[in-house]
Amino acid sequence: HVVLVTGTTGFVGTQVSLAFLEAGYIVRGTARSLEKGKAWIAKFPQQAHNFEIAVVPDMTAANAYDEAIKGVDIVAHTSSPFHYEVKDNEKDMLIPAIQGTKDILAAIELEPRVKRVVVTSSFAAVCTVPLLPHRGHTYTDDSWNPVTYDEAKVSDNPGFVYCASKTLAEKEVWNYVKEKKPTWYATTLCPSLILGPPMQPVSSMDSLNESMKDVWTLINGDSKGGAPPTPFPVLCDVRDVAKAHVLAVQKEEAKNERFLTISHHFKNEQIIAIAATYPELRDNLPDVSSFKYDPGDHFGTDNTKIQTKLGMTFIPMEKTIRDTIDRLLVLKKEL
Ligand code: NDP
Repeated sequence: HVVLVTGTTGFVGTQVSLAFLEAGYIVRGTARSLEKGKAWIAKFPQQAHNFEIAVVPDMTAANAYDEAIKGVDIVAHTSSPFHYEVKDNEKDMLIPAIQGTKDILAAIELEPRVKRVVVTSSFAAVCTVPLLPHRGHTYTDDSWNPVTYDEAKVSDNPGFVYCASKTLAEKEVWNYVKEKKPTWYATTLCPSLILGPPMQPVSSMDSLNESMKDVWTLINGDSKGGAPPTPFPVLCDVRDVAKAHVLAVQKEEAKNERFLTISHHFKNEQIIAIAATYPELRDNLPDVSSFKYDPGDHFGTDNTKIQTKLGMTFIPMEKTIRDTIDRLLVLKKEL
């Protein structure tokens, strides 16, 4: 089977592509330029025989994916802007997320071979942002961020706009399924903060993806004045997120289902405590020796469904954090 993975060159897209390749699929990965695609292949030469690049320079352009979709059986749509440098809410965030999703849906209409579609949504599409940390509330697979396009258009909070972009993009998928009743099945995954080793090609520590920048800023000395707050105190390992994408297109139980993709609750202080066991990082870190983790100081989450319906088990949090730090230190040396 051929899988089209959009956003192969990203943090999540890289691990999703690798997970499909390891599971025996042929992967066609989209990149915004041929150079980016070639840089990806150069990092994973042992996978090159089952991998090809489709260049999609602008996913908001009309017919963006019409060539890339040809001959594809499965789609994994991971592409979406995830950053907080938003100057124009619509142009930089809302339109690419929403129109990119509409374009992939329009392309799938052209390829009757497509049977399964998995879309990387987010906990951003689940939580009610203004109510965070939402003590005493439990989010489930059925929870939805209630944000509207009009609210997001005028917001001056880039995090709020990002969360809106993910919500409204995911809604495009479910509205499409409801209205058009396609012959293929959709699955959406709603991961919280995604940590774990960044394996995508990166040119500098400043060009790391957003969730890796969060960890790097905690341990590189920038947070020495005190541990910053943890806006999304829930995480999932990128390798587990990738595995969930593969299971989502394989399992009967995943057809037309939405999954909260969360493994652990955490606080930034726990990352710092683990980083403190690395001699080379010790001088960079704030003092968190008096820190006590209290799970009751923010919302709860129910991740039963992904465990029972997809059969997911999760990498322990300490391993995720250590593997993240190990890889960041390797990158720092290389770059
Ligand atoms: P990255 O920034 O590493 O990846 C984003 C991907 O989307 C990249 O491949 C990027 O291409 C592509 N992309 C972004 N904007 C555009 C655009 N306008 N046109 C075409 N392609 C675009 O971030 P992540 O890997 O973290 O994010 C991947 C997905 O996972 C996103 O949907 C994100 O919302 C979701 N997610 C991420 C979480 C996290 O903590 N990391 C948490 C929950 C969900 P290029 O490589 O060329 O920049």
